[in-house]
Amino acid sequence: MASPVAIAVQAGKLLREQALRPRLLAVRSQAGHLTSRRWLNLQEYQSKKLMSEHGVRVQRFFVASTANEALEAAKRLNAKEIVLKAQILAGGRGKGVFNSGLKGGVHLTKDPNVVGQLAKQMIGYNLTTKQTPKEGVKVNKVMVAEALNISRETYLAILMDRSHNGPVIVGSPQGGVDIEEVAASSPELIFKEQIDIFEGIKDNQAQRMAENLGFHGPLKNQAADQIKKLYHLFLKIDATQVEVNPFGETPEGQVVCFDAKINFDDNAEFRQKDIFAMDDKSENEPIENEAARYDLKYIGLDGNIACFVNGAGLAMATCDIIFLNGGKPANFLDLGGGVKEAQVYQAFKLLTSDPKVEAILVNIFGGIVNCAIIANGITKACRELELKVPLVVRLEGTNVQEAQNILKNSGLPITSAVDLEDAAKKAVASVAKK
Ligand code: GDP
Ligand code: MN
Repeated sequence: MASPVAIAVQAGKLLREQALRPRLLAVRSQAGHLTSRRWLNLQEYQSKKLMSEHGVRVQRFFVASTANEALEAAKRLNAKEIVLKAQILAGGRGKGVFNSGLKGGVHLTKDPNVVGQLAKQMIGYNLTTKQTPKEGVKVNKVMVAEALNISRETYLAILMDRSHNGPVIVGSPQGGVDIEEVAASSPELIFKEQIDIFEGIKDNQAQRMAENLGFHGPLKNQAADQIKKLYHLFLKIDATQVEVNPFGETPEGQVVCFDAKINFDDNAEFRQKDIFAMDDKSENEPIENEAARYDLKYIGLDGNIACFVNGAGLAMATCDIIFLNGGKPANFLDLGGGVKEAQVYQAFKLLTSDPKVEAILVNIFGGIVNCAIIANGITKACRELELKVPLVVRLEGTNVQEAQNILKNSGLPITSAVDLEDAAKKAVASVAKK
């Protein structure tokens, strides 16, 4: 059974991963854990809308896409104090910096005009936080919310725990900061409650978590009630993680979710259509979106050998073997199952549009895929795109003989490889020669 600390670290890591998806995939692939998964990402304001629809307490807010809209929203809120928050998928915004020079992705002010001025320095600029790439992430929207005083910040997350095969609630009275930091410095301040998914959350579990988080008196019941509502939301929307940091307390005696990050199970898309329709793809790389249009999965890495594969397992193996032979992958394009010739053409177009690419390695195992279709796609793409970089092809499986004949008889400068090792060696060598 995973310890509370391990789960807390897992909770933090999951979120970081999703925020830093492209980068982390690169790192993870190097460590041998490549996944070609696309995740649904929601901005804070979208998550909070779901929460408020499920009885979870969040602040009143508006969303704005221009400084003027932000100003109007601030006036309309008619609040004593306003909190203005940049909407990006990464956390750590409070301590982030914009390339406009503005410090902080979260600002408190009493003056709606200041909201307008700050929003002007946020929208359209990149915000860099501990969880973003160095160049930051462009801010397209801001959240303008009624600010509340916070007397205490705690941490609360609900996530699927593999080792327990079910949901677990993780909490700490020490919130507002990165949960990994708490896990490292004060592991005794991390608490967990395992939930039996068939029985659901029990009153005493919600109460115990509320108490561990340091809520006392009437606040304890309120916090327990919020925890239960968050759990019901978690189940209903097929979340894999709901994280609230800070899960705070106000001097007026209210328990409020000041921040929100929700991750979803992509396999549930068919029954969560409304939620998936909110998917904010604006933070994807354009090439990822382009790939998705053709049912291809693209992952950018920072080497120079493009990899054209089918399946995450083969992608992982290809990556490892390129590294072992002294090379570095530039990207992965995963074909998936039922391939059409036109897809192969699009795949090549995408791969070669990346100026980093100095060679292409095709590594496809024809199980469901017919190798001849791939070979026809490859030769067509080579001709029409006037491919300029060396191409190494390793095909195996269904109809491989015919595929090899197609490649050989094409008259194109395609290097065939007998197996994966051979393919990687040839691809690495073709780059080294240049
Ligand atoms: P993050 O930095 O991306 O995690 O963004 P958060 O939404 O968690 O905001 C960062 C910090 O700003 C929180 O930990 C709070 O300390 C503070 N903050 C956010 N909203 C409010 C608010 O309404 N009132 C007050 N007083 N502080 C807030
Ligand atoms: Mn936060």
